[in-house]
Amino acid sequence: MKAYAVILCGGSGSRMGKKENKTLLKIGGVPSAVRCARAFAPAVAGTVLVARAGDEKLFRDALAAYGVPALAVVPGGEDRQSSALAGLRALPADADIALIHDGARPFVTEEIVRRVMESVEKYGSGVAAVPARDTVKRADPDGRVLETLDRSELWQMQTPQGFPVRDLLRAHETAPGRYTDDAALMEAAGYPVRLVMGGYDNIKLTSPEDLRMANGMLTPRVGTGWDAHRLMEGRELWLGGVKIPYEKGLLGHSDADAALHALTDALLGAAALGDIGKLFPDSDKKYKGISSLILLEEAARAITGRGFSIGNVDVTILAQAPKLAPYIPQMREKIAGALRIGADQVSVKATTSEGMGFEGRGEGISAQATAVLFR
Ligand code: MG
Repeated sequence: MKAYAVILCGGSGSRMGKKENKTLLKIGGVPSAVRCARAFAPAVAGTVLVARAGDEKLFRDALAAYGVPALAVVPGGEDRQSSALAGLRALPADADIALIHDGARPFVTEEIVRRVMESVEKYGSGVAAVPARDTVKRADPDGRVLETLDRSELWQMQTPQGFPVRDLLRAHETAPGRYTDDAALMEAAGYPVRLVMGGYDNIKLTSPEDLRMANGMLTPRVGTGWDAHRLMEGRELWLGGVKIPYEKGLLGHSDADAALHALTDALLGAAALGDIGKLFPDSDKKYKGISSLILLEEAARAITGRGFSIGNVDVTILAQAPKLAPYIPQMREKIAGALRIGADQVSVKATTSEGMGFEGRGEGISAQATAVLFR
């Protein structure tokens, strides 16, 4: 059976105290909506993202910046229910199962997605939820307790919520009222709803505290890198992925971009994946003259493939000449593109050593870098 994800990103940031849509807020350097789409990607046949009308391009750009695929970004309606329906209507004709997910639940995992899918295949529905941990009471508007509910029967609802597309569409199209989630709508329409274990960390970002908690749930890892190459006549000068007009260039097996080499080592170091020489050996002819941006991209893929996201990177280039300041904005763009992160997460600085050392004498250029990853 073919399952598709429908990720709802139509909410506003009002309760979050932000103007920006809350699903575009970055958790550990990656927007919540992108984290969601990335978690679904390996498990589903495709993803439709539902944005607030007018915000579609923002989401398309965010997905593209992080290299996460989506079939379509479609405009939603004025509430959750009409947005879910808009997403369902945008699914391809071969869709058997729809998994509706809140774009503000950035910690959904592939494992939860697969549990929900298996339940839909087996029982006709699967809704992520967790058993209530706190005692729940019913009270009147004055706070007088009316009843203590039996906690052993209580579950807190999460997403994804999975159903056969046909049933869910029919329930939506004939819904007599408004419901807070798809499970409630399906219950009201008389369909059985089956709970599957979600995760206590599959939290929903609603208030500013949630955002702080979400960022605090990630474990940071730091890496450093250093590199230097000799300056020679008859070579092109490449630094930070940018070709810089100069009478000399750096000597090396690849394009000898010391800044990108230091950065690649910082990223690999933070993930404890060895160093650039281990991943791309000098002895391998395929790396001769290669653009170091390609090496950086490959290192980034190795890192994100192991579940890390990049928080920020900082590179310092030490060169007596040429003047590098005019090229720094372009370097930041190139690096951000290769790492699939925002340019605001990339810092590049250049300095001289006031004539001291090999850099000061113009014999070579060195660079150092720091990278922060999150998992
Ligand atoms: Mg090097």
